[in-house]
Amino acid sequence: MTIRNAIHRIEELFPGSISTKTVNRKQHGTNETYFPEILPDAVFYAKNTKEISKIVKICHEEECPLVAWGTGTSLEGNALAKRGGISLDMMSMDKVLRINAEDMDVIVQPGVTREQLNNDLKELGLFFPVDPGANASLGGMAATRASGTTAVRYGTMRENVLGLEVVLADGRVVKTGGRSRKSAAGYDLTKLIVGSEGTLAIITELTLKLQGRPEAIAAAICAFPTVDEAVQTVIQTIQMAIPMARMELVDTETILACNEYFGEAMPPLPHLFLEFHGSDSSVREQSEIVSDIAASLGGSDFKWSSKSEKRNKLWKARHHAFYAVKAKYPGYKAIATDACVPISKLACLIDETAKDIRESGIPGPIWGHVGDGNFHATLLIREKSQKDRKIAQGIIDRMCQRCLQMEGTITGEHGIGMGKLKYMQQEHGDSWELMSEIKRAMDPNYILNPGKVIKSN
Ligand SMILES: Cc1cc2nc3c(=O)[nH]c(=O)nc-3n(C[C@H](O)[C@H](O)[C@H](O)COP(=O)(O)OP(=O)(O)OC[C@H]3O[C@@H](n4cnc5c(N)ncnc54)[C@H](O)[C@@H]3O)c2cc1C
Repeated sequence: MTIRNAIHRIEELFPGSISTKTVNRKQHGTNETYFPEILPDAVFYAKNTKEISKIVKICHEEECPLVAWGTGTSLEGNALAKRGGISLDMMSMDKVLRINAEDMDVIVQPGVTREQLNNDLKELGLFFPVDPGANASLGGMAATRASGTTAVRYGTMRENVLGLEVVLADGRVVKTGGRSRKSAAGYDLTKLIVGSEGTLAIITELTLKLQGRPEAIAAAICAFPTVDEAVQTVIQTIQMAIPMARMELVDTETILACNEYFGEAMPPLPHLFLEFHGSDSSVREQSEIVSDIAASLGGSDFKWSSKSEKRNKLWKARHHAFYAVKAKYPGYKAIATDACVPISKLACLIDETAKDIRESGIPGPIWGHVGDGNFHATLLIREKSQKDRKIAQGIIDRMCQRCLQMEGTITGEHGIGMGKLKYMQQEHGDSWELMSEIKRAMDPNYILNPGKVIKSN
């Protein structure tokens, strides 16, 4: 029972579909952030569920690790083959299988990306709202329970996946959930698998909830004297039940990077980026209320538009923040870490984290989906500097501690992967052991993405 046997058996069964070439292994062994390269032993390019079922069965018998790979944009080393084995590339399974426009749902293969799906939905007046910053695969997004700028209004992948087809660790194919908007029929296996980071099953099909395109969309930006006033504006807006579509914070350092990158002249202050969905009159009314709240908290330079070109221009800094910051620090690696707390604690968490970053001496701009109490710190470290790496790790450790003390979670959206594993016991206590028991029941040979999410075996 070895990895080599598994590769050999798969090669015999599906000649040409599995590669042990270094170039392919490298493509599936790197990541968007700071984890060192970890090459899988081979890469299998999946084409359909039947094939995956056979491969998983072989891996189960040979006790060979198998790690699903979407677009590889996850930020905590989630898709890296920590224990070697086979990287299962899902990107050729990229068909939108059935759009049920009347019921506003869609059935897709896992390799469909969110932008691809939204292009297909455009002319039907529908859209899929979950929008992580990268053009990720829907399988990867479900597996990491991803979210993005619109979660404040439409929820995360948890709220938007209605059902799944999955291949279990022994090769069985099962369906979970369905197309109905609600169900009280038994355990919610869909929600168990959403967010399991490929450790419990391979997702081979997803049924997703869709939204109607709003009649009107308006965008606004506003500068604030400090992050605190910006976050207080968010809290008051949410408490007034304004149905915000997007509420994003960008700190001064990020604004400065964006000014340089785009040749803009935004005031060097923290900003809120806002979006309103509704009818012409409702978006105008909502934005007037938020503008008043912002003004009462010292907000200035409130700019608003419902014209699509102007909206995109207003939001440019938020959309491209990651790349603007990376451009400012050539030769640096970016560690994008996230945390989430109840919204009343957010200003304090950001404030203390920003202070910690300032005192550390490494750059670490902050932005995030503050409408959900979620923010990101992007720590920039010199490529080969162990010292910087250690400083960044210290900042993340302290941020996680603070956030747990504030009854928050160590990650709102990036997931556990390898980076956040060490905080799991503290966040979950005994229920982390329960997760291990679920893993043992569903994957007794620990072949699916081993070394992630649960206690190392
Ligand atoms: C610039 C940038 C901005 C980002 N912004 C956000 C953001 O705003 N919000 C957010 O949530 N994330 C964000 N991310 C992180 C990333 O885009 C998400 O984690 C995304 O969900 C990963 O999808 P993927 O297709 O790249 O998955 P991968 O990275 O390929 O895989 C992620 C995990 O899912 C598993 N997996 C993949 N496909 C399957 C499958 N079919 N079945 C079972 N398991 C599977 C993998 O094994 C791995 O554990 C950002 C990343 C970048 C680079």
